Amino acid sequence: MKHVAILGGGPAGAFAAARLAAAGIEATLIDEKLAWEKPCGGGVTYKACERYPFLFENSIPKQVMAEASIAAPRAGMVSFKLRHPMVIYSRRELNGLLIDRARQAGVRVERARVLSAGRRAGAWHIETSAGPHTADFCVLALGARNPLRELGTQLRPADTVMAMAYHVAGTAERVDIEFLSGLDGYVWVFPRHDHISYGIGGKGEPSARLRARLEDWMRSKRISFEGAPFHAHLLPSLAPEAWKQNRLEGEGWFAAGDAGGLVDPITGEGIYFALRSGEVAAECIADGTYGRPGHYTRRLAEEFTADLAYGSSLGARLGSHMSAAAAVSVQWMRRSPAFSGIMQDLISGAQPYLDLKSRLVREMAPAGLGSLFRTGSISLRMVGRILGYQS
Ligand SMILES: Cc1cc2nc3c(=O)[nH]c(=O)nc-3n(C[C@H](O)[C@H](O)[C@H](O)COP(=O)(O)OP(=O)(O)OC[C@H]3O[C@@H](n4cnc5c(N)ncnc54)[C@H](O)[C@@H]3O)c2cc1C
Repeated sequence: MKHVAILGGGPAGAFAAARLAAAGIEATLIDEKLAWEKPCGGGVTYKACERYPFLFENSIPKQVMAEASIAAPRAGMVSFKLRHPMVIYSRRELNGLLIDRARQAGVRVERARVLSAGRRAGAWHIETSAGPHTADFCVLALGARNPLRELGTQLRPADTVMAMAYHVAGTAERVDIEFLSGLDGYVWVFPRHDHISYGIGGKGEPSARLRARLEDWMRSKRISFEGAPFHAHLLPSLAPEAWKQNRLEGEGWFAAGDAGGLVDPITGEGIYFALRSGEVAAECIADGTYGRPGHYTRRLAEEFTADLAYGSSLGARLGSHMSAAAAVSVQWMRRSPAFSGIMQDLISGAQPYLDLKSRLVREMAPAGLGSLFRTGSISLRMVGRILGYQS
C-alpha cells in the first residue's frame, strides 16, 4: 500500500491517519474544518482512556469528573461517586489534540471540502475544494452527515437520533443524566473546563420538540440559555436490522466512526468507537489484510459491533419505556450496591450488553432478582420482560 487518503479529520479519521503514518504509510488527511467545536457532549469514557492513556495524560484543558447522578420521573435522583472518572473535552480541543498527533506522526493534513470520490483503474480520484487527489485506498471518516452516499453506512431516518446542546458559562461538580417521561433518550449536564454542556438526545422526536423539551427542562432548573451558543447534530443510532446489513467496507475503502454507524445506540457514546475503528482500519491496511473481503468488518464485530447490535435490540424493546426502566434503575441503585456497580460500568463503557443479563443474575440472584421481576410493579415486570425473565 503506497498512499491512503483519509476523508474526514474527526476522532476516526485523525486517529486512523496517525496510525497509518506511524506504520510507514503515506497518509493524507482531508477535512473542511479540522479542529472545530463539533456539537457533542465531549464525554470520553473510562474504556477509552484505559485503551488510549494519552486521552487522559496530556496538558490540554479538560474536566475530570468523579461524581455523577441519574434521575427519572417519579423515582427522583440518585448521585454516586464514579468508580472510574469520566473525562470531558471541548471538541475543538480533542480534535486539535488528535490532529496534532497525526501531524507529528507524519500525516499530510489538508483543510478542504471533499466534493466527490470515485475509483477508476484501481485508484481513487478525489475532488476537493482545494484541488484533486489520487490515492490507492480511502478511509471514509466523514461523520454522520457523510455526503458520499455510495460509501459507508446508509443511514435511514430510523437509524439516527437528533442531539443538541446549549453551552452555558459556569462550572459544576457532577455529570448529570436525566430521563424524561416518554423520551427514548435523555438530558445530560456535562461540565467542561470553561462552560457546561446542557444537552438532549432522543429517538423519533422532531428537532423542534426536542429543543422545546430541553428548554423546558432548563427553565425548570432555572438555568438561563439566553444568548448561549446552541448546537445540533445528527447521531447514528442503528436500528437492530440495520446492523445486519451495515456497509463498513468495499473495494479500496473502509468506513470508520460515525460514517460506519459506530455509535452505542443506548448511551450515544461514539468517540471510543471512532478511535478504535480508525485504528483497526489502519491495522488492516498496514498488515495487508485489507485485501481479504469482510476481514475488517469481522474484526469490528468480534470487538464491538455484535455487542452494539444487541444493545440496539434492547434499546428498541425499551423504546418509549426508557424512562420507566430508568426509574426502576434509580430505585435499585439506592438499594443495591451491586446494581449501582453494574450501572456505573454501563456508563463507563466497561459493561457489554451481551453479558448484561448474566451479570445481573450472577450478582443479584441473592437478592431474588427473578421473583422481584415477576411480582413487582408494572414497570418492574416490563424490565423483567425486556431482559427475558417473563414470557
Ligand atoms: C450532540 C451530540 C453529543 C454527543 N456526545 C457524545 C459524548 O459525550 N461522548 C461520546 O463518546 N460521543 C458523543 N457523541 C458522538 C460523537 O460526537 C461521534 O460519535 C464522534 O464525533 C464520531 O467521530 P467521527 O470522526 O466518526 O466523526 P466526526 O467527529 O463527525 O468527524 C467527521 C469530520 O468530517 C468532516 N467532514 C464532513 N464532511 C466533510 C466534507 N465533505 N469534506 C471534508 N470534511 C468533511 C467534519 O468537518 C468532521 O471533522 C455525541 C454526538 C452528538 C451529535
